[in-house]
Amino acid sequence: MKTLEEMDLKGKRVLLRVDLNCPIEGGVVADDTRIRAVLPSINYCLEQGARLILCSHLGRPKGERRPEFSLAPVAKRLSEILKKDVALADDCIGQTAEEAVTKLGEGDCLLLENVRFHPGETKNDPELAKALARLCDVFVNDAFAACHRAHASVVGVPEYVAECGAGFLLKKELDYFKKAMGDPVRPLVAIMGGAKVSSKLGAITNILNKVDKLIIGGAMANTFLKAKGINVGDSLVEDELLDEAKGILQLAKEKGVPLYLPVDAVCAESMEAQDTFIRPYGEIPKGLKAFDIGPASVTLFREVLQDARTVVWNGPLGAFEKRQFSRGTFAISSTLASLHALTIVGGGDTDRAVHEAGDASQMSYMSTGGGAFLHLLEGKELPGVVALEKCGG
Ligand code: ADP
Ligand code: MG
Repeated sequence: MKTLEEMDLKGKRVLLRVDLNCPIEGGVVADDTRIRAVLPSINYCLEQGARLILCSHLGRPKGERRPEFSLAPVAKRLSEILKKDVALADDCIGQTAEEAVTKLGEGDCLLLENVRFHPGETKNDPELAKALARLCDVFVNDAFAACHRAHASVVGVPEYVAECGAGFLLKKELDYFKKAMGDPVRPLVAIMGGAKVSSKLGAITNILNKVDKLIIGGAMANTFLKAKGINVGDSLVEDELLDEAKGILQLAKEKGVPLYLPVDAVCAESMEAQDTFIRPYGEIPKGLKAFDIGPASVTLFREVLQDARTVVWNGPLGAFEKRQFSRGTFAISSTLASLHALTIVGGGDTDRAVHEAGDASQMSYMSTGGGAFLHLLEGKELPGVVALEKCGG
């Protein structure tokens, strides 16, 4: 796979697939993190004298042209950041787009309207891919967060463009992941959390082949604890996954990977309840549910993490959106922030939690793609990356 620096971009029409799916409030970009994440690639292309065409999706317009999903606010914000005019082509393909591209001079930048206004995007329609490919000489993918999706602008376009490459953000994401999971400095400890075992089964199974220790928290820990025959009171349990959970506990044993589960919990009658009770697992009474790991679990997990040289974290350890259930997640966030280790954090909610805890800048790397990051944890190749590798140029 080529990287941007290995490509000759001067005077070329460069189609850069980015993830500019920013939150929009009242017609303006409410958070420009995603724009800033791809600035290194954008600036590099412009400095090299490319005629830059940006392509992105925004929200889920379901294949219809719906004005509330227009990228117009993003074009405006991008113009402000770049301190130069970024025009918005009213359609990402066809005459409108082609004319806008013709007007681009070297070092100019154009944003195409939401690619998901076309139903062919999510269906990976070759006609849409070809129409996008016609706009450019070179295709560069920097949309890590979209790389797990077999969409036309991600996997289709590279089939029809002679030269393709990876942008700086995509490269950075893959490099950090490889550093953590490919050939890590050991001990490598993974922390898995979140609401459901079902969404993380593949990832947990795969990482058991790589890690030295595994910590499991969050609501899904209840399923594992119940699978071990430990009383979890009325906590959320995925009963249909008890066998899978037992299988994972067995697999960890076979691999000799210590698997740590919480030993206590912050419990309440419901997530809305203000009255909370700290109870050891095994002694959670009927009527109470576990919504966060308790203080003894925090101490245990901290100890487990103490000698780690590499840590990968996906999934909050409690219902951190509620203040009364946020302490476990925030405590582990602050532990990671203080470690002398390579710390990689991924997952949409985990990202939010670490930002709320104020620790984001202390992590070695915060992944920008929740779904794509989980896909990598599952040991799968990213379709968007495979498409780049297959491209001839
Ligand atoms: P990510 O997006 O980082 O991959 P997930 O989507 O898998 O994380 O899980 C995040 C959700 O899990 C959060 O909304 C959080 O409230 C919820 N959660 C974690 N632990 C618990 C718990 N003990 N009870 C209820 N919800 C929980
Ligand atoms: Mg999530």
